[in-house]
Amino acid sequence: MLNVPSQSFPAPSSQQRVASGGRSKVPLKQGRSLMDWIRLTKSGKDLTGLKGRLIEVTEEELKKHSKKDDCWICIRGFVYNVSPYMEYHPGGEDELMRAAGSDGTDLFDQVHRWVNYESMLKECLVGRMAVKPAIPKDYHEEKKVLNGMLPKSQVTDALAKEGPSSPSYDWFQTDSLVTIVIYTKQKDITLDSVIVDHQDDSFRAETIIKDYSYLIDIELSHEIQEDFSVRIVENVGKIEIVLKKKENTSWKCLGHPLENHNSLIPKKDAGLYYRQCQLISKEDVTHDTRLFCFMLPPSTYLQVPIGQHVYLKLTITDTEIVKPYTPISDSLLSEFKEPVLPNNKYIYFLIKIYPAGLFTPELDHLQIGDFVFISNPEGNFKISQFQELEDLFLLAAGTGFTPMVKILNYALTNIPSLRKVKLMFFNKTEDDIIWRSQLEKLAFKDKRFDVEFVLSAPISEWNGKQGHISPALLSEFLKRSSDKSKVLICICGPMPFTEQGIKLLHDLNFSKDEMHSFTA
Ligand code: FAD
Ligand code: NAP
Repeated sequence: MLNVPSQSFPAPSSQQRVASGGRSKVPLKQGRSLMDWIRLTKSGKDLTGLKGRLIEVTEEELKKHSKKDDCWICIRGFVYNVSPYMEYHPGGEDELMRAAGSDGTDLFDQVHRWVNYESMLKECLVGRMAVKPAIPKDYHEEKKVLNGMLPKSQVTDALAKEGPSSPSYDWFQTDSLVTIVIYTKQKDITLDSVIVDHQDDSFRAETIIKDYSYLIDIELSHEIQEDFSVRIVENVGKIEIVLKKKENTSWKCLGHPLENHNSLIPKKDAGLYYRQCQLISKEDVTHDTRLFCFMLPPSTYLQVPIGQHVYLKLTITDTEIVKPYTPISDSLLSEFKEPVLPNNKYIYFLIKIYPAGLFTPELDHLQIGDFVFISNPEGNFKISQFQELEDLFLLAAGTGFTPMVKILNYALTNIPSLRKVKLMFFNKTEDDIIWRSQLEKLAFKDKRFDVEFVLSAPISEWNGKQGHISPALLSEFLKRSSDKSKVLICICGPMPFTEQGIKLLHDLNFSKDEMHSFTA
């Protein structure tokens, strides 16, 4: 709610500006861009009206500040005076007012919990909510030195009822190796379910089990080498992380638990973890889109699941800015490599540079060798949606093509039941089409695949399809290979495009299970 809802950023003349519904951006007044906001926060102006004091805010006090020109909002226990920010909020003032004088945490999480409001709003901080006395928690169990025994997991009663059965871990050693074993108790666990980071002494392994996150977070008792391996013991839900000791000594314990070690919490409540990644290469793909390749640190193991995105973080004028991007494979024509290649150290992005944008010009200015922070993956696309699939239809507009890249590669290589894959790709002009020749070559190489380009602002010589997403275009395009064929339609693009597409698909009698829309 409090930062850029990056799903849509229509050009001032675009019809996206007049599209309604959802949480599209509202046009901002001249001089009210996020960059202008950042400048204001650096100007030294007193934005809280408290002359630099931080106060304790009671619920009664918070409720009193519920007007546009005096609007306080609480997020995760911290209270902000957002009145000065109103005109800069890309989602509009009304959206912000929904949380006026109250705890806006849930609303914020629903819309974009990844946004680093702490940084964006630090000059608006009024203080903390007055804390109600809480029953102290007995940390005795957690503070125990880990010696390979299984400490009690921090699983709440509610979780035990709704979530996956509680995972656990163990460890064993040889002279040269230490193996950490995670028992997920989930048969269908895959290599992209686990993310491992080792920085200094701290060792962190996050395992995604259904919609939950199981965390191992330990300060290791001894030094280890940079490289380690991760493997899955098929069908029993066991993950093994094999670490190489720096010295061949016997370890008495694995290490000391860090905060949230051995906890299982809903994924939506787990914070985003970032690591620094180095820019390796940058190539032009179209006049305004570039292919960026970043290298993960040697001591990170991370594979982004198909259909998921990550967040990139840069510090712009002393303010941390975060935006979502969808990793792709480096080409459409290579055989499908992920997620089977365990040592995949590179992560590719196709990113459009908006000259008047906040984040992308900064990204574009990075030199080879520079670093950005990249988060753990997020997203709700499930590979199980491909099961027994016969017809796959992809509707993409502009960079909304990015999730389709891995989907195309995976589906054409791994789904034996698949008969037909069709992509309808909406762009303004021919020059805007990403990977046109690769798409045409793929259609030539694989008879199941077909691509149609639709242009909204073509030159008069264009003899392909024209216009915007419409009932006529869709009903002609979405022809099943047989009456009862199993269908999946994936849609991604500017938010109003996606919303309109979903509405049209409903009108064409496709069910919810037959569509997937990509959003943040
Ligand atoms: P912004 O500052 O957001 O501005 C973009 C343009 O819109 C500029 O021209 C700006 O002047 C204009 N603008 C912005 N807000 C307003 C307003 N309120 N009124 C008037 N004009 C406005 N993009 C990719 O290129 N590749 C990807 O793989 C990708 N993946 C994504 C995945 C997800 C889940 C989501 C939600 C988005 C993804 N995006 C992707 C979009 C990306 O997150 C950013 O939104 C995009 O890069 C623009 O960022 P920016 O800060 O440079 O531009
Ligand atoms: P763009 O070039 O502005 O637009 C691409 C095409 O879509 C153009 O033909 C455009 O027509 C059309 N279009 C735009 N708005 C429309 C609407 N309301 N109804 C019908 N057609 C519409 O696109 P872009 O700049 O690349 O932006 C791509 C968008 O995809 C961004 O908003 C980005 O956030 C989003 N994205 C989301 C994800 C995700 O959620 N996972 C991933 C990647 C990208 P006009 O000529 O009329 O504008």
